[in-house]
Amino acid sequence: MSKWTTGWALLVLALAGCDSGDNGTTDAAARETTPPQGSAAQTPPANITRDRLLAADGEPGNWFTTGRDFGKTHHSPLTDINTGNVDRLGLAWEYETFTRRGLQATPIVVDGVMYVSGPFGKVFAINAETGEEVWYFDPQADGQHARYACCGVVNRGVAVWKGKVYVGALDGRLIALDAASGDKLWEANTFIYPERGYASTGAPEVAGNVVVIGNAGAEFDARGYVSAYDLDTGELKWRFFIVPRDPAEGQEHPELEMAARTWDPNSRWDIGLGGTVWDGMVYDPELNLLYIGTGNANSYNQDERSPSGGDNLFTSSVLAINPDTGRLAWHYQETPGDQWDFDSDQPMILTDLTVGGEAHKVLLHAPKNGFFYVLDRETGKLLSARNIVPVNWAKGIDPETGRAILNKEAADYGDGLKLVFPSPAGGHSWNPMAYSADTGLVYIPAIEMGMYTTDTSQGQDHRPRQHNMGVAGLMTSNSPFGDAMPAEDMAKISSGGLLEGAPDPTPRGVLKAWDPVAQKAVWELESAGWWDRAGVLSTGGGLIFQGTGTGYFRAIDARTGKILKEIKTGTAIVAAPATYRINGVQYVAVAAAGGGIPLTMAPPADSGNAIYGNDGRIIVFKLDGGETPVPAKVERAPVPEPPIQTADAETIARGEAVFSANCRACHTQVPGSVAPDLRHMTAATHAEFKDIVLGGKRRSLGMPQWDDLLNDEDANAVHAYIISLAWDAYRAQQENSN
Ligand code: CA
Repeated sequence: MSKWTTGWALLVLALAGCDSGDNGTTDAAARETTPPQGSAAQTPPANITRDRLLAADGEPGNWFTTGRDFGKTHHSPLTDINTGNVDRLGLAWEYETFTRRGLQATPIVVDGVMYVSGPFGKVFAINAETGEEVWYFDPQADGQHARYACCGVVNRGVAVWKGKVYVGALDGRLIALDAASGDKLWEANTFIYPERGYASTGAPEVAGNVVVIGNAGAEFDARGYVSAYDLDTGELKWRFFIVPRDPAEGQEHPELEMAARTWDPNSRWDIGLGGTVWDGMVYDPELNLLYIGTGNANSYNQDERSPSGGDNLFTSSVLAINPDTGRLAWHYQETPGDQWDFDSDQPMILTDLTVGGEAHKVLLHAPKNGFFYVLDRETGKLLSARNIVPVNWAKGIDPETGRAILNKEAADYGDGLKLVFPSPAGGHSWNPMAYSADTGLVYIPAIEMGMYTTDTSQGQDHRPRQHNMGVAGLMTSNSPFGDAMPAEDMAKISSGGLLEGAPDPTPRGVLKAWDPVAQKAVWELESAGWWDRAGVLSTGGGLIFQGTGTGYFRAIDARTGKILKEIKTGTAIVAAPATYRINGVQYVAVAAAGGGIPLTMAPPADSGNAIYGNDGRIIVFKLDGGETPVPAKVERAPVPEPPIQTADAETIARGEAVFSANCRACHTQVPGSVAPDLRHMTAATHAEFKDIVLGGKRRSLGMPQWDDLLNDEDANAVHAYIISLAWDAYRAQQENSN
């Protein structure tokens, strides 16, 4: 059981609590602030208002939200850089973040100043013309929550509004900063269940008079909810829960009574049931509605979590909430009774489209479940849906009812191992897509991949603040985790019977230019692998900009998919770029540092992480810019001589079991992983081993404390196991050098 769970953890949830390579980030001397120069100094900073946001197309020099406009199209009208001249693109400036975790945020740029977040919820304000730092904010987040951040201690952006910058720190504090100084104005603790495993990685969203934030942790024992706070004071205005609690306790708000009727009364209320809102919020000032995408249900296996079945509202759904009242306006469930980690948290785009000859205000969405949805955002009614990648969990979406037609035979693993498409990596994940009204196309960084899935929930206890998914799986990628799947199940897979009639299981990362009206791909551009799927920027210059996990920055013809320019950065890129204009010069900016699965814990050999390490950079380009520096290649350090082994074989074996269950998800031996390869521990680290593991000595760096799960004996056994690994490596090294 523990081996199963570990295998699953490695596959899907790679990063429960990785030690951090981040250092030196609080070095005040290196971070003296300078006031913004030039145009930035002329206006009050960060003064985004409702009027300005609604008229964002009239100020194309600015990038007001993580997706530029209120609809978060990730499209800019700027045309200065275009298909005819993009071959002249070069470096304008770069800014080092002094972090080594993934950077996933799209920068916001207002009146000459860039605001962008990084690991743990650190915020960087930078002169967008020169690259000089304006201010830097470190929330000093409690690294304990790294244990509950499945896929890295990342942060997907800030919200900027009327002179304030809002950020969610990893440890659940929502923080309002003065945009001029970076000084903290207020903070609110958004985590209300300290006994459950939560982390905060999403961007807050300003909606009317409130700022809203969700959280992550559906694979652990989190109960999903969003909280709304007064913009100026941080006072809690309302809270909306995504899943009900035990009906015996009564529900907090009326919508939950409706939701509770879609759950077994004897559901596993003790494991939280998921539905976390970790990304994907967008406020619609035209209709005064806040749309949120909700996460998967937990445990994944419905037989366990809600034995009598049901849709299990409001998991895997899009919800429209009135931000003045916190009341639900409509809901649309994309995956009823989710069993496959099909989060609907992916970013949404609001625009206007003519569908079936009628004009609609629409919401475009490509959640993990592999379909592309066009919803009427006034009513929540489905206008159309079509799969963008191979899918077998559903036979389609009923156009009349809007409901997915489940394919139990193909995807219900309750009666045995199944190959399910798409995998929990999603047909599309958090990496932002873009929509260009010029081409009428949506540009989606998609993933084509399946996962062999098995039920392991039999007799599963609630494991507080640990994984409680109750399934195990093996992705169809050539992942290094195959050993985690029991031999009898591996045999079933290799027998070939399961693959009969299934879609091609070869995993691919593919940028798809998708026509949302015709619901079909117009062109596709394959990337280096399923792990290579960075966010997208579209521009009026007819260009798509996208980075790669292999460390390149590309300009692509929006109409044909042809690569027009490629610049080597070395550093892996997963975030979406932004573009803006200052003093008549158009810039294109991207936060570069690989993160997420698998770049964080098992980066492929051709990824930027593996070759160049992962020092975070904000890289900004312009026409006729300079050469882009490429970091030095990472040199593999020798294994230092380990301490003398004093433990017996039994203790070492026990240490291996504890290590596999708790540590191996982060501490791999794969070069370029953010968590250290522990065979390389120095004598000083060996001496502090228990202070680190049990005492939390490196908690501030993101290495959590484990004394709630591991005792002294466990820690000693793990240490003995690491020492034995280190000796193996050290001896091999000595032999090779002789
Ligand atoms: Ca999930």
